[in-house]
Amino acid sequence: MPTALLGLNTEELRALVQEEGEPAYRGNQLAEWVYRRGARTFEEMTNLPDTLCVQLKKKYEVGRSQVVTVQHSRDGTAKLLLAMCDGARVETVGLPYADRFSCCLSTQVGCPVGCVFCATGLSGYSRNLTAGEIVGQALAVQEEAQNYSSQIDKRSCRIDHVTFMGMGEPLLNYAATMKAIQLLNRELDIAMRHLTLSTVGFVPGIRRLAQEQLQITLAVSLHAPTDNLRRRLIPKMVKWSVAEITDACHEYVQQTGRRVTFEYCLLGGVNDRIAEARELTSLLHGLNCHVNLIPYNSIRGLGFHDSSPKGIRAFREVLSSAGIQVTQRVQRGPDIDAACGQLQQRITGAVFNELSLQSITQR
Ligand code: SAH
Ligand code: SF4
Repeated sequence: MPTALLGLNTEELRALVQEEGEPAYRGNQLAEWVYRRGARTFEEMTNLPDTLCVQLKKKYEVGRSQVVTVQHSRDGTAKLLLAMCDGARVETVGLPYADRFSCCLSTQVGCPVGCVFCATGLSGYSRNLTAGEIVGQALAVQEEAQNYSSQIDKRSCRIDHVTFMGMGEPLLNYAATMKAIQLLNRELDIAMRHLTLSTVGFVPGIRRLAQEQLQITLAVSLHAPTDNLRRRLIPKMVKWSVAEITDACHEYVQQTGRRVTFEYCLLGGVNDRIAEARELTSLLHGLNCHVNLIPYNSIRGLGFHDSSPKGIRAFREVLSSAGIQVTQRVQRGPDIDAACGQLQQRITGAVFNELSLQSITQR
């Protein structure tokens, strides 16, 4: 298999062309083509000498994924199903807002954690993604937005915020995720503070990340204030208690000076009662954090349902009256299954026929 250029930073590309006997600045040109000009082939790189392209082609490829399917929501959200070079498929989502353009990236093909309420967990786990495959998702979202928007809108197609909240657990694919963060920051010019890494609460990963002292936002998917309840929802992460998770978060705050976000997906009758809100309040006492309540996006066959608006309000009220900052995630793309793992499920699964074919583009 040829080596992918996508995933190498400018310095590495400079070294690579020097090995081929070319001046280092050719590496900057390569980086420009790969990260800023969206080249998929060497033929597109018109300012590189033909001899260099021929040489590079023998050992390297650009390494871009193919778009299999795109769904567009009425609210502008675009969900892409991408095929990697080996055929593995992952999802990525583009989220245009009035003041920013965000992208939700996958870090693994499937997920080994298997939270019982999550569609990605259902699909099992195949492999880690490489840094290039992670960053390539952001490029695919940008291009899709450019193809879809009018000339006037094209300026706002540049991604300026990224969340690692797609398929997979980023801290179980640590090295590639760190490299992807570096590439998004240096090659795509996305500010560290605009990057959010969401973890299921893998404590060794949180502690390791704290030591990196990056200015990214850490989001921890807690979903339960007690070990018993968390064990039911995330049975494969029982090794670390909620107290150990919050301890690791204290370390993150200490090392980075950044406030931690706790994600709490509200599952009707499971973790959304006043008792849990009070327990959560005690657990988070004294920690520089913010709670993001996530309305559950129902997945058929998993046996969970969302909380009532009244229930969400009451839960929220308990937290905010205890002085905890709390927000509620606005549901995006409800008409296109924008929750983690859902598009893949529908394309490959038995429920494919239910899909509104108007909102989907097969490539
Ligand atoms: N593995 C990481 C990141 C990917 S999941 C993590 O678990 O944090 C991103 C977020 O989506 C997590 O908070 C997860 O709990 C949440 N999520 C998964 N399935 C969901 C669903 N059906 N509805 C709402 N949120 C969901
Ligand atoms: Fe994996 Fe996150 Fe889904 Fe849990 S919620 S199965 S950790 S992707």
